[in-house]
Amino acid sequence: MSATRLLLLGPPGAGKGTQAARLMDALGVPQISTGDMFRAAVADGTEVGQLAKGYMDRGELVPDEVVIRVAAERLRKDDAAKGFILDGFPRTTAQAEALDSLLSELGRPLEICVALVCSDDELVRRLLKRAGIEGRADDNEDIIRNRMRVYHAETAPLLDYYRTRGLLAEVDGLGGIEEIAGRIAEVLA
Ligand code: ADP
Repeated sequence: MSATRLLLLGPPGAGKGTQAARLMDALGVPQISTGDMFRAAVADGTEVGQLAKGYMDRGELVPDEVVIRVAAERLRKDDAAKGFILDGFPRTTAQAEALDSLLSELGRPLEICVALVCSDDELVRRLLKRAGIEGRADDNEDIIRNRMRVYHAETAPLLDYYRTRGLLAEVDGLGGIEEIAGRIAEVLA
């Protein structure tokens, strides 16, 4: 039996979104990406979107209270009862703590945190390539470097957070999509 309540952790460009989408199909549980949710909110011009846009454009984190509210609302939906793949949330210790208390309230604790490991040089290379393909507003070199800085300062400490709780599985994020998917399947089994 594979885990169904999982979190993909890793720096921007590590391939979280790609692997999360595959896992969603394989496991039949929804992918919950706060980045995708914020981009949709910006496109729809909602209040959350207006709030998030400036932070996203600068490569900064959207404030915890906003992120936590949006993620909690999503996790309370019926389809997340059978499991979920969190992608891009949590990104700060405060978010991780809020997630823990929400999931314990729901009686559905996280089963595993899969961390994709990748060097900064490779990440920048991939993000610049993606910029050419998808044209995402926050994929230019200065903003990418800022997102890396933010990752190391705010999000990397979550590796220890989940390691301490016995939930961390580190997976080499270098290689082909299939290859990495295979490594993830191994740690989930
Ligand atoms: P990437 O992993 O490539 O940085 P995402 O799509 O996960 O891309 O996130 C894009 C942007 O959305 C982030 O730079 C940030 O501004 C915002 N964002 C997404 N998730 C969070 C979060 N959990 N906490 C704070 N900000 C977030």
